[in-house]
Amino acid sequence: MMFFNLKVPSQKCHFKEVVLNPLGKEQGLFLPCDITMLPNIDELLELDFLERSFEILKLFVSEDLDDLTLKKMITRAFNFRIPLVQIDKNKFVLELFHGPSLAFKDFGVRFLAQCLSEFGQGRKITILTATSGDTGGAVANAFVGLKNVDVVILYPLGKISSFQEKLMCNVGPNIRAYAVEGNFDDCQKLVKDCFDDQKLVSTVGLNSANSINVARLLAQMTYYFEAMAQVPIERRKEVVLSIPSGNFGNVTAALMTHALGLPFKKMIPACNVNDTVPRFIQTKIWSPRPTRPTLSNAMDISHPNNWPRALYLLNTLKRPLSFCPVSISDEQTIETLLALWKWGYETEPHTCVALRSLDLKDDEFGIALSTAHPLKFKEDVESLVNCKMKVSREHQVILDKKIIPQKIKVDLSEVKKFLM
Ligand SMILES: *Cc1c(COP(=O)(O)O)cnc(C)c1O
Repeated sequence: MMFFNLKVPSQKCHFKEVVLNPLGKEQGLFLPCDITMLPNIDELLELDFLERSFEILKLFVSEDLDDLTLKKMITRAFNFRIPLVQIDKNKFVLELFHGPSLAFKDFGVRFLAQCLSEFGQGRKITILTATSGDTGGAVANAFVGLKNVDVVILYPLGKISSFQEKLMCNVGPNIRAYAVEGNFDDCQKLVKDCFDDQKLVSTVGLNSANSINVARLLAQMTYYFEAMAQVPIERRKEVVLSIPSGNFGNVTAALMTHALGLPFKKMIPACNVNDTVPRFIQTKIWSPRPTRPTLSNAMDISHPNNWPRALYLLNTLKRPLSFCPVSISDEQTIETLLALWKWGYETEPHTCVALRSLDLKDDEFGIALSTAHPLKFKEDVESLVNCKMKVSREHQVILDKKIIPQKIKVDLSEVKKFLM
């Protein structure tokens, strides 16, 4: 299948090209040219996760990856479980945090790492990525030790948890993480500006592991199919999805699965007070405000970079879908967190934003995505619920790690120096 540039639709490329050059002309983002309804959804949902993921991804990548290679990549990338846990009569949580960095970003990033190591073929590649917390750990752990790949991670100083920081600092010699004295939007802008420098891009083989890379979005479709597969067949048309959202990559992947035929009834992008999208849907005016820090800091984003994709998919829906973004305050997040802990479900702020947004009718089947393990937000969560979390031995090793953050200013020339 070909992929087209949303800004310059005449630019069409193969999967391999868009993985290696994720930004098109005029900084346009790519989407698959045709996402058509699958005729055999129920049959697909009968398959096990790896087989089904192979069938889905194959639709998009078969011209660049043979079946055997794709199977091997999928087996390596998706090596953890995805339970759907019941919380209430009709509320469920899809736990996406059982991967090595304890966040759902492992799905997209691990598959992307497989793609890059497959397509790079000896040529040196430098991954430059901005993270609001979770991408960094996922990237560091997906790429560590891969030959011919250097990784540079930019994160906002003091705006991520110490566990997140430990997951991405001192991981291995090919991984470098820098603490930028600014916010996530500053980090994202630095990355974008580096990609504008064509000479730099070609000299160091610059590539982004951010959610603008289409390989990540494709990989993320697989867990929506897995969620639906765990819903009883007679309830599948009543599924309401609540997706904790920042850059809207997760929502974009969900919209693609709707286009492929998953029968979602309603989709709720759940934002914190950084509510550019909920306000846009209400007022039709795009007016980002300065980013405000919240407890769900991986979603502290006011310029969601995947929004053009989501909007395109919404404007080309072939079946009805109710799309209802909401904004949840920290007070509401805390209320939900306390109630869940009291009830016996140990969770964290991002998941709470999604659960709080699920406002269900009796016959609906609500699924909130849980995008992170509570341990990633240990300090915040423990002080809010006023008790200590149980920590497995494997996680304790990470918590005990000593690191010294490498600070840098919001300065493009400095970032370029590190890359050369
Ligand atoms: C990245 C992230 C999100 C937001 O996902 P997007 O695809 O950027 O909308 C939500 N929760 C957590 C824990 C994350 O790391």
